[in-house]
Amino acid sequence: MSVFDYDLFVIGGGSGGVRAARIASAEGGAKVGLAEESRMGGTCVIRGCVPKKLMVFASAFPDAISNARAYGWDVTLGGFDWPRFRTTLETDLDRLEAAYRNTLTTAGVTIHDSRAVLVDAHTVKLASGEVFRAKHILVATGGRPFVPDIPGADLAVTSNEMFHLPVLPKRALVVGGGYIASEFACILNGLGVEVCQYYRGAQILRGFDDEARGHVATAMQMNGIMIHCGTDVMRLEKSESGIVAVATDGSSREFDLVMYATGRHPNTEGLGLQGLGVELGRQGQIKVDEWSQTAVPSIFAVGDVTGRINLTPVAIREGHAFADTVFLGRPTKFDHELVASAVFTQPEMGSVGLSEEAAREQEPIEVYATAFRPMKTAFAGRSDRVMMKLVVSQESRKVLGCHIVAPEAGEMIQLAAIAIRMGATKEDFDRTCAVHPTMSEELVTMRKPVRKA
Ligand code: NDP
Repeated sequence: MSVFDYDLFVIGGGSGGVRAARIASAEGGAKVGLAEESRMGGTCVIRGCVPKKLMVFASAFPDAISNARAYGWDVTLGGFDWPRFRTTLETDLDRLEAAYRNTLTTAGVTIHDSRAVLVDAHTVKLASGEVFRAKHILVATGGRPFVPDIPGADLAVTSNEMFHLPVLPKRALVVGGGYIASEFACILNGLGVEVCQYYRGAQILRGFDDEARGHVATAMQMNGIMIHCGTDVMRLEKSESGIVAVATDGSSREFDLVMYATGRHPNTEGLGLQGLGVELGRQGQIKVDEWSQTAVPSIFAVGDVTGRINLTPVAIREGHAFADTVFLGRPTKFDHELVASAVFTQPEMGSVGLSEEAAREQEPIEVYATAFRPMKTAFAGRSDRVMMKLVVSQESRKVLGCHIVAPEAGEMIQLAAIAIRMGATKEDFDRTCAVHPTMSEELVTMRKPVRKA
């Protein structure tokens, strides 16, 4: 008889943990246990990508209705019933959570609805006191919002609470300039909330292509969002009618809601990792090698808790590669290069590969870019502009980066990413015949570089 209760024990039922558990059990024939202290599905399904995207959809209707009027439809925008939307959203998340549970149990995974901590290299302990020994342990505990320690920080909410607000605020402050802050600034604005966004740096969406993020920021401002760069909150104070944010620019403004989106930290506190030999990084992220293995051979980690690239599809691939390697005898490493992503601002931004700035540091480049008014909204008399950009190596002619700011840019970048991942050159793009009339046809019709660097 085995000295182990499980071949694999997974801590965390989010994107990475669920994929690893399912593949190890259903395809690898392993005996798998999984512990989740909150709701099955993790950040992505319960308090991240999925409810966020549904809110993005909800927030886009006012524009759609105004466009419809321009196209001759006799429609008027009524009010937004937040409680009705929220109730439907909650029902949908319940459905998804149940589907995740069902997938796991069908795959033969034993679910423990409990917090689990590590006791030693092969042992986990549940909150109930139950102890299990496992040949392998996978830590997939994700991350949580980080709020800086300023006076009045407890008056602010994070993205976790945004899906459960009792009422929609009239005036909101969003703090931060990353994915989450910029997306929620747009969502709230679309839902009719007056939105200010404070960001401590010079331009929001740091790390993305400068031209693309400038394009997004301008569009957000034209849509009515008051973006204050070089501005941070010093303290928050409760007032009679709201929350006052005292800022570094000397202003004191009152809001009904303050949302912080100033990054996320890995969930490693109190997990029992200290003393086991598992190495942690500066923010508490678990250090792993290219096989997602920690310094302790029986302990692996995938997803946001490792702080590599904090995206759901990356966690899924890391979890899958781990299961393939350890339980299916198929050594697999996930390649973290050329991971495409989309920021669901309005307009959306899709990116893959290097920004112009990063590429320029690496080698001589050519830049192909265009910005134009798309047919659909130009007809409606709107001044929205979309942007397409390719960053090309002068020497190899390979497309090093693609940046798109446009409606549905997330859908477009997924397809461009396949070509770029295959090593497509600018001439491969040029050889590809356009699909007309579309916005993305510009990607294959840009003939002259706008600059070389
Ligand atoms: P990000 O790391 O993207 O952005 C954090 C923002 O907060 C930055 O603007 C940062 O400023 C600012 N900040 C950090 N610390 C402080 C501080 N002490 N005071 C003031 N400002 C501060 O984190 P998010 O929380 O937006 O998102 C977390 C991760 O989740 C993302 O990195 C992304 O990987 C993932 N995500 C992906 C989405 C998608 O794919 N669409 C959607 C949502 C999240 P600075 O730039 O100066 O450091």
